[in-house]
Amino acid sequence: MKLNAGKPIEIFLMNDQPFTCPYCGARCLEIGNFYHTNAKALIEECMNTECGFICYEEENEYYLKLWR
Ligand SMILES: [Zn+2]
Repeated sequence: MKLNAGKPIEIFLMNDQPFTCPYCGARCLEIGNFYHTNAKALIEECMNTECGFICYEEENEYYLKLWR
């Protein structure tokens, strides 16, 4: 079982391209959608199970500001 335990979840800003994993380059799957909230954020999980990368993808810097 792979979790990002102990590591702060990473946040990336959305762009026009499909989100790909910054570590292995695989396509990511949307596993959570908060786009309808103020946060306008998606949770993306790398489809490469060997990698297990999970991150937030957000439209603006809401979390970046909130968590700083
Ligand atoms: Zn990956």
